[in-house]
Amino acid sequence: MKNKLSDRILLQSSPFIIAGPCSAETPEQVHQISTELSVNSQVQMLRAGIWKPRTHPDSFEGLGVKALPWLVEAGKNIGIPTCTEVANKVHVDAALKAGVDALWIGARTTVNPFAVQEIADALKGTNTPVLIKNPINPDLELWLGAFERFNNAGLDDLTAIHRGFSIYNHAKYRNVPSWEIPIAFKESRPETPLICDPSHITGNRNLLLEVSQYAMDLNFDGLMIETHPNPDQAWSDAKQQITADGLNDLLGRLVLRQPDFSHDVASMIDEIREKVSVLDDQLFILLSERMQLSEEVGILKRENNITILQQEHWSQLISKRLSQSESYHLTPQFVRILMEAIHQESIRHQTRIMNPKTNKFS
Ligand code: PEP
Ligand code: MN
Repeated sequence: MKNKLSDRILLQSSPFIIAGPCSAETPEQVHQISTELSVNSQVQMLRAGIWKPRTHPDSFEGLGVKALPWLVEAGKNIGIPTCTEVANKVHVDAALKAGVDALWIGARTTVNPFAVQEIADALKGTNTPVLIKNPINPDLELWLGAFERFNNAGLDDLTAIHRGFSIYNHAKYRNVPSWEIPIAFKESRPETPLICDPSHITGNRNLLLEVSQYAMDLNFDGLMIETHPNPDQAWSDAKQQITADGLNDLLGRLVLRQPDFSHDVASMIDEIREKVSVLDDQLFILLSERMQLSEEVGILKRENNITILQQEHWSQLISKRLSQSESYHLTPQFVRILMEAIHQESIRHQTRIMNPKTNKFS
């Protein structure tokens, strides 16, 4: 690719769409899905997994090198660049030799600094675009560290993909989005485009639209969505794949907010933000006063040999606030997180009071 992929993604005003099957299965399947996708001018990159890191060894693990030419030809055929997942140097060399345009690092690889370093070293001297998925565990530093490894190897055409985080037995999503992590990623690397992969977040085609819309509302730069000619028959990730028509429909339903920062709106927003800032000031003053009271309780606990955590009291406290969440027009999730954060901070203050020698306040 002549121009940097990351620049192209950042500069265009519409979301950058990557689509294609979870795995390349047969030459016919890759050819069919790519031709079906080519009808949609919004699809700008074709994906297909060649090497699939699977949880169980008896799952379909990809066809390997023999499938690379199917992807490359399909991309040429419809005139868009291609990408595939690589997890080691052998994959990198084979993918580049076959003419794949961009490479992505899967979530199970981003967790492993040795593997990431090996891939970065293998790409030294090329300016191959690399898309780096978040690690499966919610570790922002590990994700950022992978970017640093590529930067240090002289590669700067980098894009991030948010695909959610593994969690045991989550009721709704295959991988929880924990949106605060991609938001913090953007804070650290505002110059790096960020794409959302709703297929691997949801694991469920019925939830793709809501997660894609959420990503668009958070100003993500694009979407990677798994598509297959016969999703239910897919050899991997069948439940989350959709047809090319399904993708058209999803993209058609997405509401893309085109900002209208005319003078009036901007000053109206500023005015409300001023008021919000005054309330935030009050919140922090109250929190500070609350912690002073916690410290007073801490002194009494120390003098009377009472443990910091009083489970029953804490349970009462949190249930009372949870039961009020609706009347405050707050979600129970928020009330729980807020109360837990306040409680943790209160414990920190009391720990310092109880053990002044071993606990410096930091
Ligand atoms: C994939 O994109 O097919 C894939 C395996 O993704 P992840 O690394 O996000 O699990
Ligand atoms: Mn997949």
